[in-house]
Amino acid sequence: MSQQGYVAAPPLSQAQPGIGGYPASFGVPPSQPHYAHYGGTPQSAASPPPGACCDYHSCSPCSQNRIDHHAARGRGTCWPCWEAGKVFSRNNVSAFIRSCSSEQIKSIMLKNFYEISINECRLKKASFSPGHGPLHGPQSPTSSVPQPTSQVLPPTSGRPLMPQAPQMAPPPSASGQPFMPQSPQMAPPPIGASSAMGTTAAAAAMGVPGSFSGLPHPPGGYQVRPGFPGAFPAGAAQMAGPPQKKLDPDSIPSTTQVIEDDQTKRGGQVYATNLRGQVPPLVTTDFVVQDQGNASPRFIRCTTYCFPCTADLAKQCQVPLAAVIKPFAAVPKNESDKYYINHELKYSYFEIFQMLPYEQYLHIFLQSAGPIRCNRCKAYMCPFMHFIDGGRRYQCGFCSCVNEVPAFYFQHLDHMGRRVDAYQRPELSLGSYEFVATLEYCKNKKPPNPPAFIFMIDVSYPNIKSGLVRLLCAELKSLLERLPREEGAGSSAVRVGFVTYNKILHFYNVKSTLAQPQMMVVSDVAEMFVPLLDGFLVNFQESRSVINNLLEQIPDMFTDTGESETVFAPVVQAGMEALKAADSSGKLFIFHSSIPTAEAPGKLKNRDDRKLINTEKEKTLFQPAKGVYEDLSKECVSNGCCVDLFLFPGQYIDVATMGSVAMHTGGSVYKYSNFQAQVDGDNFLRDIRKEVEKPVGFDATMRVRTSTGFRATDFFGAIYMSNTTDVEMAAVDCHKAVTVEFKHDDKLSDDAGALVQCALLYTSVGGQRRLRIHNLSLSCSSQLADLYKSCETDALVNFFAKSAYRAMVNQPLKAVREVLVHQTAHMLACYRKNCASPSAVSQLILPDAMKVLPVYMNSLMKSAALVGSADLSTDDRALQRLLVTGMGVEETQALFYPRLIPLHNLDVGSKAVPLAVRCSEERLSEGGVFLLENGLQMFLWLGQACPPEFIQSIFNVPSFAHLGADMTSIPELDNTLSKKLRSVIDHINQQRSHAMKLVVVKQKDRSEAPFRQHLVEDKGLHGGASYMDFLCYVHREIRQLLT
Ligand SMILES: [Zn+2]
Repeated sequence: MSQQGYVAAPPLSQAQPGIGGYPASFGVPPSQPHYAHYGGTPQSAASPPPGACCDYHSCSPCSQNRIDHHAARGRGTCWPCWEAGKVFSRNNVSAFIRSCSSEQIKSIMLKNFYEISINECRLKKASFSPGHGPLHGPQSPTSSVPQPTSQVLPPTSGRPLMPQAPQMAPPPSASGQPFMPQSPQMAPPPIGASSAMGTTAAAAAMGVPGSFSGLPHPPGGYQVRPGFPGAFPAGAAQMAGPPQKKLDPDSIPSTTQVIEDDQTKRGGQVYATNLRGQVPPLVTTDFVVQDQGNASPRFIRCTTYCFPCTADLAKQCQVPLAAVIKPFAAVPKNESDKYYINHELKYSYFEIFQMLPYEQYLHIFLQSAGPIRCNRCKAYMCPFMHFIDGGRRYQCGFCSCVNEVPAFYFQHLDHMGRRVDAYQRPELSLGSYEFVATLEYCKNKKPPNPPAFIFMIDVSYPNIKSGLVRLLCAELKSLLERLPREEGAGSSAVRVGFVTYNKILHFYNVKSTLAQPQMMVVSDVAEMFVPLLDGFLVNFQESRSVINNLLEQIPDMFTDTGESETVFAPVVQAGMEALKAADSSGKLFIFHSSIPTAEAPGKLKNRDDRKLINTEKEKTLFQPAKGVYEDLSKECVSNGCCVDLFLFPGQYIDVATMGSVAMHTGGSVYKYSNFQAQVDGDNFLRDIRKEVEKPVGFDATMRVRTSTGFRATDFFGAIYMSNTTDVEMAAVDCHKAVTVEFKHDDKLSDDAGALVQCALLYTSVGGQRRLRIHNLSLSCSSQLADLYKSCETDALVNFFAKSAYRAMVNQPLKAVREVLVHQTAHMLACYRKNCASPSAVSQLILPDAMKVLPVYMNSLMKSAALVGSADLSTDDRALQRLLVTGMGVEETQALFYPRLIPLHNLDVGSKAVPLAVRCSEERLSEGGVFLLENGLQMFLWLGQACPPEFIQSIFNVPSFAHLGADMTSIPELDNTLSKKLRSVIDHINQQRSHAMKLVVVKQKDRSEAPFRQHLVEDKGLHGGASYMDFLCYVHREIRQLLT
């Protein structure tokens, strides 16, 4: 398409008030460079012509060529059945091994070296039954996996049919309904408009005349269809007009509907990863993954599964090309058990591992050659390597280099040109697998020590008074019994250590031979050192009695403390030095109460200046303090020291700075404001238990390789980068995701596709160095329609959130928000121009795969971090910013479109969580009860006219009026409704990485504001447009771009 009329940032001719009360105008070009500028130079755009109204379409591009691509490609789509029946039992392998000489074992080892570590990561090969799962012969993705069907309106009379009509389906729901939101003169809602304005105001602002009933009032032959709820005639009276009616919000695309539709269409199904460029089910859909050569979407999701062939096309559409990689994602039980079989070689490997002393095993394994890698680009052996020359050589799928196959790795090829052992080797048939790393991959070429956990407890006055220290010490006694262990291992290899501190540090010697723990005090916090090595990090099993003794004593030791000052950086320093001295990677669990004001390195002062909000300097509130903390983070990462931070502040604590250490080291941050053990204790305990027990890898380095033509250019996550390619993480757990942006450096071919290989080197909880590989193949196309069809909105939102949250420390928030609006408009305008069928310019046409992108983008702009309101706590905003940085697609989806679940009609017989409704005040009812959750917070909203029986069953009080304010829990009552409600809440809490404190909200109570802030389709409480208004605004931008 021509660049003309399609520009990156169209400044309007005059300044206008910003959307929904933002002080900034969206129309004014940002004064700072864009943080995420995918397009050409901003140019002016002409004002749109006045006139026609618009229509909403959700449609898929007319593409008929994907089937041909795959059919032509052929190879890689034929998957024969798994070779069954060759499973060694544990016993016969043991006997066999015992009969071998060490030379024989070595030879077996070398042969079977590339084995998957099944027990550890459950990345096991799927079991295929004949005729099921695997495909026989080339197939198109559309024929094997249900693709999102086109949701295009039935053509209206008076308008031409769309070319793709034969592929169209009538809209199954309201989401496919047309929408005519805007007349071109509509200005963004004025600043300070009340939140009650809602859609009525939107309609008013648009000059909508009275008739919404579908009366035709067609300018230029346009007809409003019967049953079209929100329709209003175009070209009618503008700002002034007859009395307005409400625009029906059902007429704009609904996230809950999209989620439901995908669940209906793809829920409960097996998603086999055998095809290139497949779009997986939504992150909210329940499905089962079968690894057939590409990594599961639980590990990698992409913004689009079809990359444009050229940089020009990418620039033109401005759709970011990115992958969200969660290398340690938890895999559901039904994927690890039911759909996977054990395999002959795996048994032999594990049996060998278990039978030989570890040193001997290491000796044999680590002396041998490392995994097979391409000589040129260093990609690891994977299903994308193509064997040639009778199996003696292979061509690298990433760089096309032809490599020799080492003699010990040689295998014959079958008549299809496939290695005959392809299905016995995970690296040849799976998308994800794991190697045991050789010494080459270990620090100083030495096998690593098992990791250690150090618990560092702030025992200053606030933590004693709140009951935290006592609660924590009591919990640790049982928690330490459940330290993570290597699967199959009898006990945990993780060693533990203990420090307490206020403005000085106390180290504890808990050596098993001691009768009593010993305390060693370090008061010189400027020169931190670890006063004891022997007896500080111990095995819990061996030192249990000394440790339990210590945990009993700690609360009493400090019970009368008057010390309220704390240090922080020296605490991290001490923990890191202790790990370094023990030559271990590990985690520091720090339980901290207040801003560290005591004289010491890293001393902080209160810089929470709300006057900076909405000024150029607002960004400084989110910038971590420079100097000490930067260096500390860097040093922690290089020593494999991850920092988990549990904060218990009574006031400002500078999360931006303190949290930055956690963020750069792959750690987590939890914040419990005004913590009281009785009220917040349960949540805190749930968090600490999850944090200690969750799957995690230590001292990790991740590298993302790509095939020729594009490369990874930017990385977002709880990571540290000391160069441009290696992603360093002191630890990476099952919730942490790294978002990787790709850029073209050459052309891509639709034949070869675009390949991504993510290699994660890490130390396991048992102290084994491992290499986890995830592979993904994407399609490429020179048709933008293919790209749009393969987009994933949830992944796009993850990318935009992370890039905007990163940008906000360098740019005014206003500029950051503007980029989000402009880019939304650009992506949609480009679709409209290049992919959609010709239609009236007044129509808003959204690609099917992106039809709810605007609601998410608007929600992101209104999110606490970006909204610029003095009513919000700076620490909370900084915290959200840090948390999002490490989030995966699942987490950002929930955060930016919270679930609003009606509970007043609970089916107590059903186990399912009720379906969510649209996240808007419109959906609330006085007689209703709703649960709202976004992964970080949870509210139970009670309507004023909520039935007394419901209140009685849940709260054990006679009516709404009897309910107290500020309730944060519901009592455990012995009736079915109460049980069901609590099980719903528990179920949701289990799905999320953070324990969510339940806040009970009474309608019209003062506590309602924090709840309403999350109704993301409504106008923001602290600024920000309603979904409807935003859509209108974006539509106007699109029209300008297309002019
Ligand atoms: Zn290569």
